[in-house]
Amino acid sequence: MPFAFAAAVLAAILGVIDAAAVQPAFAFPLFVGLVVFGAVLAGVAVATSELFRQSRLTAAEAQARLQDLTVQERRLSATVEAAEVGLGLADLDGNLTQVSTRLATILGRTREELAGAGLEEVLPSEDRAAIADALQLLRDGDVATWQAELSRVALFMVRLPATAGGDPAVLVQVADIVARRRIESLSDCVAGVRQVIVNATGIEQAMPQLLRGFCEYLGWSAGQYWALDAERKSLRVRYSWNAADTVMEGFLHAGRGVVVTAATGLVGRVWQAGVVAAEEDLERSADYEPRTAALSAGLRSGLAFPVVVGGDVTGVVELVARQPHTPADEEVTVLATAGVEIGQFIRRAETAQALRRSEADHRAIFERSPIGIARISNGGELVEANASLLHMLDHDAETMRAHAWPELMRTYDQTAAREHKAPFLAGLSDGSSLQIRAATGAGNWLWLQLTATSIPDSRGTPEHVLVMVEDVTALRETSDRLAEALEAQRDANTNLEKLDQTKSEFLSIVSHEFRTALTGIQGFSELIRDGGLEPDEVRAYGGYIFNDADRVNRLIGDMLDLDRMESGRMTMRAGDVDINDIVMEAISRAVPSAVTVEFKSDLDPRLPIVSGDRDRLIQVLSNLVNNAVKYSPDGGTVTLSSRVEGRFALISVTDTGLGIPQDEIGHVFERFRRVRSGAAQSIPGTGLGLTIVKQIVEMHGGKIWVESAVGHGSSFHFTVPLAPESANALQLRHA
Ligand code: ADP
Repeated sequence: MPFAFAAAVLAAILGVIDAAAVQPAFAFPLFVGLVVFGAVLAGVAVATSELFRQSRLTAAEAQARLQDLTVQERRLSATVEAAEVGLGLADLDGNLTQVSTRLATILGRTREELAGAGLEEVLPSEDRAAIADALQLLRDGDVATWQAELSRVALFMVRLPATAGGDPAVLVQVADIVARRRIESLSDCVAGVRQVIVNATGIEQAMPQLLRGFCEYLGWSAGQYWALDAERKSLRVRYSWNAADTVMEGFLHAGRGVVVTAATGLVGRVWQAGVVAAEEDLERSADYEPRTAALSAGLRSGLAFPVVVGGDVTGVVELVARQPHTPADEEVTVLATAGVEIGQFIRRAETAQALRRSEADHRAIFERSPIGIARISNGGELVEANASLLHMLDHDAETMRAHAWPELMRTYDQTAAREHKAPFLAGLSDGSSLQIRAATGAGNWLWLQLTATSIPDSRGTPEHVLVMVEDVTALRETSDRLAEALEAQRDANTNLEKLDQTKSEFLSIVSHEFRTALTGIQGFSELIRDGGLEPDEVRAYGGYIFNDADRVNRLIGDMLDLDRMESGRMTMRAGDVDINDIVMEAISRAVPSAVTVEFKSDLDPRLPIVSGDRDRLIQVLSNLVNNAVKYSPDGGTVTLSSRVEGRFALISVTDTGLGIPQDEIGHVFERFRRVRSGAAQSIPGTGLGLTIVKQIVEMHGGKIWVESAVGHGSSFHFTVPLAPESANALQLRHA
């Protein structure tokens, strides 16, 4: 474009010259001059045009830059104003020259108030020294930037280089950290509460730490915990905390005397309403307790929140401060939540304490119980045995676990099987007990009573088994002895009854025997008294009378013998006796009255002399021979034999008579015992003879026994010791 413009100018100039029609003589120089002029003109025109263009260009650019700058400045100031931090400029002495609105807000002044004001004046007095030091460092050029968190703000300062027309300045950047600090304190407080709750073992340990945490994190001066009494009727201070402040101590002391019973005062209202409440001006709060103490401690504000367990308020935490303290919403939320968490902790701690107490009780019972207690697994292995059990079985814990207990379980199962009961582990549910015999470590045998109880876990599944082990040896032995005694008593009673019965039978038999004999004696003697009898008749009647009298005599003799035997007065006159001799005498005595039986003898002619009472031995033999005859009513043979049997003479009386029923054989030697069946029952007798015979044989140191079969006869055998010298001689002979 500048070139087009220059060409147009040049073209116009050339047109004028052409129109003037210049003379030829001058024509060339003029032409040259014109050309040169034209060229100069053209050059000027070109240059001018270029200049013109350039200046227009520059102006446009300046305009554009100005606009840019304006926009940028607007943007910058909008940015400065919109920044979260407050920004400003100050001179090197810290006097503010420019401030953003945000900075004014953070510092709590108007921009006008801040214009020219020194940084040290507008920030809290406690920060002054730090700011003065910082400005000094910036001034001296020791540092180019400085930053620190002061009491309420974070301050960042940059030394800016001096501009052409001015002094160096300081860029001031201020961030409000109050809100952030509050949030941090709250979250620290929450973390602190949790930490105390997690680590504490009980409320006594936790509560002072919690009160301290609330005060330190949230800026309260003192705190106290009001606990509800057992009847849930009143609140009293149970724990308190303050930072070793004696004036505050006076307030807390006064608080300990207060009993809150109704919804009045800060604490009472929180208790009844169950929500957080604050008292921003204690001076104006008429029902605050203890108000006078609070005011004299210089307290201004208070806050209380409920401690909630399962929806019920169980206590109230009260926090008081000297400075005005208006709790923000976050603080209220944090404290309300803390109240719930503390409540849960109290419940957990109480449950844990109750558990610990119950655990301690059970441990004491387990350890000190006089009964042996074993805790065993579901598989039957011994987990733990108490001292009583170890002492009872005389084992150490390890031997008990490894050997004695498994052995006990085996014995239990064997005993259970014998008694048709379930094995130990299978029969736990019925709770029955069993007595078993077990040896102690010292080798003593005990009777143990085992009773098992299955202990379920929280889900009801059997977790382990408790076994009570009682030493019932003494009890068992006593009851065994008692049973034996009872049995003996029962036997004695039966015997007594039998004896009684036998005695009355004996009495009737004896009376009958006496009467029969006496009737005979009476009848025959009457006949003789009346006279008129032939001498043979008199002799015969005399014989009958003699026999009856003899019967009575024998009967009385037997009864006297029995009496002597029972009172231990029966005596022996020992001497040398030839058994074969008395056997023959017994036969000859029996023969006259025994007409139906045949007597035989089978005697060892070399039978040595025995030592004994001859009369008594004749009594024995006569008795046996008489019985053999008497119980052979149909006749038969009665054989008497003798032979040596070791150091004894063995004598046998064998008949072929009635025989003795099998079940009576063992009893015929008992007093008054008579066979009451078959033909034997009709044969008269007293049941005394064999009793006396047995006694006499035994007094000689011998034995008597019988072999018999009904219908085949009986064999009575008895032994009498050989006289010592004959026994020795016999021995010599055998040798
Ligand atoms: P008793 O006076 O009744 O004969 P004993 O004591 O002599 O009393 O005998 C007891 C019982 O033994 C008799 O009642 C009788 O039943 C039985 N007895 C004794 N000897 C014989 C025998 N040789 N044969 C069969 N029974 C006999």
